[in-house]
Amino acid sequence: MFLAGAAAVAVTACSDDSTPSAPTTSTNAAPTKPSSTTASTTTTSATTLPSIELAADPFTLGVASGDPDTDSVVLWTRLAPLPLEGGGMPADDVPVLWEASATDDFASIAASGQEVAKADSGHSVHAFAELPQGTWFYRFRVGQYTSPTGITRVAPTDATEVRFAAASCQHYEAGYYAAHRDLAEHAPDFTLWLGDYIYEDAGTVGGDPAARIHLDAEPTTLEQYRNRYARYKTDANLQAAHASCPWFVIWDDHEVENNYAGLLPQEPDDLSEFEARRFAAYTAWWEHQPVRLPPPAAAGEEYRIYRDATWGELLTLVLLDGRQYRSDQACGDAVLDLEPACAEAADPSRTMLGDAQEQWLVDTLTDSSAQWNVIGNQVVMANATLNGAVLNYDQWDGYPVARERLLASLDTAGIQNLIVVTGDIHLAAVAHLRTDDAAVGVEFVTTSISSGANLDPQLTDLLKSFPDLVDAELAHRGYTLHTVTPDLWTAEYRVVTDVASLDSEVTTYSTYVVESGSNTVAPAP
Ligand code: FE
Ligand code: CA
Repeated sequence: MFLAGAAAVAVTACSDDSTPSAPTTSTNAAPTKPSSTTASTTTTSATTLPSIELAADPFTLGVASGDPDTDSVVLWTRLAPLPLEGGGMPADDVPVLWEASATDDFASIAASGQEVAKADSGHSVHAFAELPQGTWFYRFRVGQYTSPTGITRVAPTDATEVRFAAASCQHYEAGYYAAHRDLAEHAPDFTLWLGDYIYEDAGTVGGDPAARIHLDAEPTTLEQYRNRYARYKTDANLQAAHASCPWFVIWDDHEVENNYAGLLPQEPDDLSEFEARRFAAYTAWWEHQPVRLPPPAAAGEEYRIYRDATWGELLTLVLLDGRQYRSDQACGDAVLDLEPACAEAADPSRTMLGDAQEQWLVDTLTDSSAQWNVIGNQVVMANATLNGAVLNYDQWDGYPVARERLLASLDTAGIQNLIVVTGDIHLAAVAHLRTDDAAVGVEFVTTSISSGANLDPQLTDLLKSFPDLVDAELAHRGYTLHTVTPDLWTAEYRVVTDVASLDSEVTTYSTYVVESGSNTVAPAP
C-alpha cells in the first residue's frame, strides 16, 4: 500500500530525467564491485527465473537501493521468511534475479542480473546495477515470489536542482515512523542516513507506545544483530522510505553500542569481547544496508565506510565515519557537566576522524568542483559550549583541537559553500560553523525520526542564546528536506506532531536558507 503510493508520488515528482531514453540490457558486475564479494553475477534474461521452492515469502524486509554514481546503483534485499528468527532460510546459497525497468509494470526490462544470496551473508543481496542516468523501478524474484517494487536513481552528470532528505535516529521503542511515511510521500532524489539506524538496548516491556518493543536481549552476536535489524526493517513506513529513493547510509554509535570509540566499548569491563562484538555489528550493518562496499574482513580490522559521491555539479557529498577512528571521549564522557572542560579535552593528539580520514576529507573537498560541498557527519560540529563547559563530550565540542584544525584546513583550502548535515542528538538545530577567526560554513542538525529527546525542551531558549546557534527545536521528531540549486540552499524542517501515533500528521516547523557565497543562514523570507 505504501509502496504504490510512494511510486505514484515519485514518478510525478521527477522531471525530465524520469523517462530514460536509452536503456541497456543485462548490464552487471560494475567495475567497482568489491573483489571480496564472491557472489557470482551472470547475464540472464528476465525469463530464466532461478527455480527454488520456498515455504513462505522471503521478501519480508522490503527492498532498498543506495550509493548511486553516474553509471550504476546498488540494489538491496535480504531473503528472510522468518525475519525475527535468524531469517528462516535453508542453509544453502540461493540465486536471486533482479530486474530494472522504466515503468512500474516491468513491461520492458532495461537491465537484469542474477546474484547469489549467500547463507554466510544472511542471504542478503547487493546487486550493482549498471543503468543510464535517471529514475528506475526495480524488483527481485526468487522461486514463486516477487519482491515489492522500489524506485531508484542513477546520479546525474548535470543537475540544476536536487532535493534530498537527511534523517537519523529511529529508536523502535520510542515511537512510530510517521516521519518515514512523510519522507516517502515527498519522494526526494535521495536520502542521507546519518546514523542510529538500530538501537542496541534490550527490550523494554511497557515501552511507549507499548506495542513497539524490541522483545529480545541486547545483541552481541551476528545472529542477534540480524534479528535486531529485521525488527526495524519489518516496519512498513521504513520500507516505503527505502523504496522511494536511493539512500546514502553511514552509521553512528548505536549500530554497535552507545558512545563506543574505535575499539573501546562504553564499559571498560566489556573490552575483551568488544572486537568480536563490533565485527558482528559491522557485518550485520553491511548485510542490511544498500552500500557500495565489501563486507568487513575480520574482527579488529579497519572497515572503511567513509566515501564520497556527487550529484551533478551541484553537490560533492562526503560521508564520514565519526566512530571508528575517534579518541575516547574526554573527561569521563560527562553529559551536562557545567564545570569548565578538563585538560584532557584540549590534548592536541585527540582525534575525531583519525589522521587518514581527516586528510582525505580536506583533499576530497579541495579537489571538488561542485557548487556546494556537503559533509554527512555524525555528531554536532558547531560550538555549543557554555562558559567553557562542554555539555556533551561525545560531540565535536569534546574534540575542540581536532575541530579547529579541520575547519581551519577547509578555510585555508578555500572551500566555498560548506554545508554540514548532522544527526545524533535528537533535536533540530541550525548553526554557523566558525574557526577562531573566520566563518566557514553552516550546519543543519536534523532531529530524530523517532528517538526520544535527549534534552528537556525547556532548554530551547538557552540553546538559542548560544552565539553560533541560530535556531533549535527540541520537542519534536522528524527529518529535514534539503532543496539545492546553484544559487540557494533551502532546508525545510519536517516535524511529527505525535510520534506515538502511526498516523500522525507531519508539518513544517521552519525553513532556512543559505545563499551561495554567503556562509550565513537565515530564516526563509
Ligand atoms: Fe540517536
Ligand atoms: Ca548517536
